[in-house]
Amino acid sequence: MSLKQWLSSDGSLRRFTGPLTSLLNRTEVPMLGQVPVGQAPDAVVDTVCGFCSTGCSLRVHMRHGKAVNLSPTEGYPVNLGMACPKGWEALTPLRAPDRGTQPLIRRERHLPLSATDWEEAIGCFIEKARAIREAHGPEAFAFLGTGQMFTEEMALLGAVFKFGMGFLHGDSNTRQCMATSHFAYKESFGFDAPPFTYEDFEQSDVLIFVGANPCIAHPIMWQRVLLNPHSPWIAVIDPRRTETAAAASAHFAIEPKSDLTFLYGLAHELLRLDAVDSSFVNAHTEGFEEFVAHLKDYPVERAAVASGIPVESIRELAARIAVGKRVSFWWTMGVNQGYEAVRTAQAIINLALMTGNIGRPGTGANSITGQCNAMGSRLFANTSGLLGGRDFSNDAHRKQVAEILGLDADQIPEEKSLEYDRILRGIEEGKIRGLWVIATNPMHSWIGRGDLAKVLQKLDFLVVQDMYGSTETAVHADLFLPAAGWGEKEGTFINSERRIGYAAKVCDAPGEALPDFEIFRRIGAAWGCGDWLNRWQTPWHVFEVLQELAAGQPCDFSGIASYSQIVESGGVQWPYRVGGEDEGRHRRLFEHGVFYRASGKALFKFEPPRVNPEPTDGQYPFVLLTGRGSSAEWHTGTRTSKSAVLRLLAPSSNRVELHPRDAEQLGLCQGSRVRVLSRRGFMEARVVLEAGVGRGRVFVPMHDGAVNRLTLPAFDPYSRQPSYKACAVRLEPILKNIDPR
Ligand code: SF4
Repeated sequence: MSLKQWLSSDGSLRRFTGPLTSLLNRTEVPMLGQVPVGQAPDAVVDTVCGFCSTGCSLRVHMRHGKAVNLSPTEGYPVNLGMACPKGWEALTPLRAPDRGTQPLIRRERHLPLSATDWEEAIGCFIEKARAIREAHGPEAFAFLGTGQMFTEEMALLGAVFKFGMGFLHGDSNTRQCMATSHFAYKESFGFDAPPFTYEDFEQSDVLIFVGANPCIAHPIMWQRVLLNPHSPWIAVIDPRRTETAAAASAHFAIEPKSDLTFLYGLAHELLRLDAVDSSFVNAHTEGFEEFVAHLKDYPVERAAVASGIPVESIRELAARIAVGKRVSFWWTMGVNQGYEAVRTAQAIINLALMTGNIGRPGTGANSITGQCNAMGSRLFANTSGLLGGRDFSNDAHRKQVAEILGLDADQIPEEKSLEYDRILRGIEEGKIRGLWVIATNPMHSWIGRGDLAKVLQKLDFLVVQDMYGSTETAVHADLFLPAAGWGEKEGTFINSERRIGYAAKVCDAPGEALPDFEIFRRIGAAWGCGDWLNRWQTPWHVFEVLQELAAGQPCDFSGIASYSQIVESGGVQWPYRVGGEDEGRHRRLFEHGVFYRASGKALFKFEPPRVNPEPTDGQYPFVLLTGRGSSAEWHTGTRTSKSAVLRLLAPSSNRVELHPRDAEQLGLCQGSRVRVLSRRGFMEARVVLEAGVGRGRVFVPMHDGAVNRLTLPAFDPYSRQPSYKACAVRLEPILKNIDPR
């Protein structure tokens, strides 16, 4: 399949809308895979994509037992035969020359890593972990995992680490993307339960996107919006004129971090318009009277002052919501990555509740997830929540899990793990002495990461388990464990709409690299975790354990009989109970207005906005915005950078987007080289003139390895999710008015 075949006859990307189509015309066409187009494969294998939370199905084409190509699976209820560039290129990163092919060990701190075998690597891991535990206690060794692993793998890791090895603290990079939604839903609905199904994109007559740019971050979801036959009115609330904002019916370019006040003002206006669904509110919610009292302080005029959006525009937005029959609200990282993110997400939930826009087709307060298995992590990582959406602090929950797993109750900690930022602080304070980093790259991605190398140097032992030994984090490891990637192992992901999808093994991992599942098993066995681990032999065995853990919970999926059933059904959304009604391929929650709180009612949660921890000033006059650069890029680029096709489709890195008038005032032009400075560090970049970023703001894609030298380590107080989206910076020219190109 060649790049040219992505194009329709008019030159646009076929069944895919990205912002970068013009780039396709400027170069030669690389080939994907080795099978010439037109030749039939020996066999095909359907599998779910391992990048984002959309959960597209990809059909891998096999020749002589080798995966040689792929195409999107026709008829899969998620992607309907479409894929974004990352999906099309999913096999390419597996063949990269810098794949880790054997374990590496650093025998002395001053020596480079050298090759070893698995026996010595696992032995070293166990010896160091035991020594740390004996000298410093169970809090002194922690892990940082990922939303990129299969549910079976993350559950095995969490169980081995906490129940078998007796350590207490682990967290995941899902803290960086979905912790806010998790916390907000749990408090408002009683369980972390995104209520929607992707059909809702097609059934709304009004769609409101807040801090979400699905055109490039979730392009297949945007395709579902484009399939909506109701000519929907689409609003985007976002400081930047993103690709989605440009395609929407209306864009509300709010001042950065004015979102909470804006949303309260919007709710106030809905009250004024008498747009409240009183029968729904009375029957199915709690706390509405208190919410109404709270809103008295947020007239639309206050929202206008804070957000920079005229009163009339906010009124029009409210009027559109008021007259909409099926209004859906969607949010993602622009909301989740903030210092008051949970209350902002709940302000969106409140809008859906007060207008009765939940539980019906085309409605909902809908958090779009980030990574392919962030949803699996939220339920089964065993870090901030006990397996199956339970709480470590709940005696009954611990007892249930102990009985199901055959554990002594005291093997289950009574406290949740420290969060990511607190684990790093523990290292800084010398309380945490060992760290196991699995399939994530904090040396690039962690907020305000300027000092992270120094922090990691304080460790007695750093283990990195990854597909690549070349990541910014892996090069600091004392022990490197080479892992198989997506396509080289099997297991399940849970996507944004709660759909469990199966990912197949279609090729072998290179050299001695092992599936994460196998690495966790070997470590558990070598530690001597106990007989309970004997059940956790294969991914399917673990899936059965997870079904037992989920049975009776809102996330019950005990009705699934096999991995094959998942594939044949086009994925299975939870809940799917034993003997339960098959409600079809698309499931929506709260259709009967019953929520998961003890009262069965949803809760209005709110509080006054907080003070911005780093407003702009004379010294640092610009707000730094960060976000996805293109649909061809994924996070720190450890995989997407390995594809020539994706590199071609991505805009040039090392850029800072700046409004032309701000550039003029600074004496800068397109291509000028500048230093972007915050109070924590600096990066060098080339100016790209972009009016859509707005005055007084600059935008740097999160894929740039230097951007997190600038960001401010501030956190939402409830979710501990980092606030990546707004800190104060200034620009200094390096060479004025010279376009090096
Ligand atoms: Fe994969 Fe997400 Fe692209 Fe679908 S939209 S192909 S799941 S990266």
